[in-house]
Order: sequence, then structure tokens, then C-alpha cells
Amino acid sequence: EELIKNILVTGGSGFIGANFIRLALATLDSCRLVNLDKLTYAGNPQNLTDISDDPRYRFVQGDICDASLVEQLFAEEQIDTVVHFAAESHVDRSITGPAAFIETNILGTFTLLEAARKTWGFDGRSPLADCRFLHVSTDEVYGSLGDTGLFTEETPYDPRSPYSSSKASSDHLVSAYHHTYGLPTLITNCSNNYGPYQFPEKLIPLIINNALNGKVLPVYGDGKNVRDWLYVVDHCTAILKVLKKGHLGETYNIGGNNEKQNIEVVQTICDILDDQAAPLPEGKPRRSLITFVKDRPGHDRRYAIDAGKITKELGWEPSVTFEEGIRKTVKWYLENSDWITKVIDGTYQEYYDRMYAGR
Ligand code: NAD
Repeated sequence: EELIKNILVTGGSGFIGANFIRLALATLDSCRLVNLDKLTYAGNPQNLTDISDDPRYRFVQGDICDASLVEQLFAEEQIDTVVHFAAESHVDRSITGPAAFIETNILGTFTLLEAARKTWGFDGRSPLADCRFLHVSTDEVYGSLGDTGLFTEETPYDPRSPYSSSKASSDHLVSAYHHTYGLPTLITNCSNNYGPYQFPEKLIPLIINNALNGKVLPVYGDGKNVRDWLYVVDHCTAILKVLKKGHLGETYNIGGNNEKQNIEVVQTICDILDDQAAPLPEGKPRRSLITFVKDRPGHDRRYAIDAGKITKELGWEPSVTFEEGIRKTVKWYLENSDWITKVIDGTYQEYYDRMYAGR
């Protein structure tokens, strides 16, 4: 723990980053934390209002592709630990506009690696302490599974979307900096996250918001695509474990052991809301809002993670089941309707109409 003194978190105003910053400040007493975030559509300062006055926290609005800014921050803040979340993260947007994914996910990661290499030196040690560069990635780099099998850290990369291929590229760059320059890197590949502060373009918050308001619930294809869901706070505890105890140069898969078909996820949310939220007009069950829409092109059928390595080597396990986590999540969205109202502004509405109109 004493290794971690001055953390640079990138993309900390997004969904997972905000959850991570909250957990890090609550559990690492002596650290300082700088959040570098460009505040794209996905970055929201309101995700961090409760900690923005913490004297250990500093927010910098900026782009991870801006080499001089990144190098300046490394020097000024004597950064010894990087936790790199910043990315374009939405598969659908990567299909309609891949350029931003190449820039942020590939060139942005390269810029951060270069700053670390230059500042920390070839042997990966700063004058201050041991350093760590933790790159947060996805299980989507492994491609798509059939009905059986699990992704392990040895599964060959086979990304299928512009999003996953840009993340795969960044993972390879991170490994290359370890092998070539001895940079003290760690990579985590995690399954689908859900929980508080997720932008409502992603399945779970989109369905919660629409179901709450009696709107159509768009489900891609036959609804039988399988994802392995992990409660976001459990992802963040895993990242902290890897940061403190992970072996340099290694990759750790993180997953919840919670495989669900999309349609099951949607039905579960409908039932929880029927039980906990105001009923729809005429007591209409929310499941009746489910509408199957034209599938996403190249939609991966199934992802599932074998998290055996992080469990055996580092002793990490998820703390909640899907059933518990989804209840907590629905409760959070019910109690934070102001947050949703503010994020669903004109730009979001335009995006939503473009994605789902005519499907
Ligand atoms: P998000 O889209 O909610 O947040 C991304 C954040 O990065 C935003 O705050 C955005 O403003 C910032 N950002 C984007 N481009 C930037 C740039 N050029 N410079 C600085 N900041 C920039 O994403 P998320 O869901 O929180 O995901 C975070 C990371 O975790 C990503 O790297 C993603 O690939 C990875 N991941 C996500 C999931 C998931 O289910 N959401 C699963 C596994 C891995």
C-alpha cells in the first residue's frame, strides 16, 4: 500500500473511474490522486461531486493524447502510479464513428506509456518509489465464445469491433513497453460492468430508465447474447488488489461468474421495477415493453471469464451476486433520478433517436 503515493487516474469522471476514485480515496489513506479527464459526452463531473473538495484530490480537464500536458502532470505531481481508464467505451459508437476510438484508445495509451517511460526511466523506478502502470481493459479483446468455454489469460486475441480492436492494440502496446523498456505494467481484462453512475447508453441503465418511464425496451436480435456481469465496485476492488499485489508484466482477467442472456437481464429489471417503482398506467407489466430490434452488426454472441488466476494468486472474489448487485443498482437509479435527468440532455436524445429509430 505504501507503494502507492501519487496516483494519476485517467478517465476518472466516467462510470468505472468515478467508482474507483471513490473507493481509492476511502481505502488508501496517504495517497494523492489526480484525475485527468477530457470530459467527453461520457465524462460527468457530477459523478464525483461528493469528493471534489477532498484535499487529496485534484481534477484536471485535458486529453490523454496531449503529450506535453501528460508529461507536465507526471513531473509536477511526482506520479508513481497510473490507473488508466480513459477510453472511448461504447461498441455502437465505434461502429458509427471509429476515429475517436483509434485516437483515444491507441494514441492516448501510447502517450501515457511514453510519459511513464521518459519520467520513470528504463528500469521502471522513479527516484521516489516503485512505480505501477495499470491498464484497464476488456474481455472483448478475446472475441466471441460458443455455448461453452471461458476466456483465460492465455486465450488468443480476436477482437471483432473497432472498440475491441482499439483496446486490443492498446493492450499490446502496454505489454510491449514492459518487455522492451521494463515498464512496470499490469493489465486487467474485465467483463461487463454495471452499477451506479453508468451512462444510459449502455444496456442496464438504458433499460432501467426506459422501463421506469414506460418507454419501449429495445433488445438486440433474439436477446440471447450472453454477457458475464460484474458489479462495478467489485471491479474496482479487483483493480486495487492488482495494483497492490499483482506481478509486474502480468495480465489478470476479472469476471463475476454471472453469465446472463440479455433478455434475462431485461426481464429481471422489469420485475424489480414492477415491485419497487410506481406502477405503469393500467398496471401494465413492464415486460410488455420489451421490443426486439435489428441486431448490432458483428454482435459477439457470448463472453465469459475464467477469473481463477486473480482468485488463486491475489485472493480476490466478487462480493455480490448478480441478483444482489442488480437490486442495488436499480435502487441507486431510483434514488438518483436527478442524475439521470441531467445526463439525458439534448445530445443524448439525438444519439438515442439515431440508434433506435426504425429498428
Ligand atoms: P466511460 O465511457 O463511462 O468513461 C470514459 C471516461 O474517459 C470519460 O470520463 C471520458 O470523458 C474520458 N475520456 C475519453 N476520452 C478521453 C481522452 N482522450 N482524454 C481524457 N479522458 C478521456 O467508460 P467506462 O465504462 O467507465 O470504462 C472505463 C475503462 O474500462 C475503459 O478503458 C473501458 O474500455 C474499460 N472497461 C469497461 C467495461 C464496462 O463494462 N464498462 C468493462 C471492461 C473494461
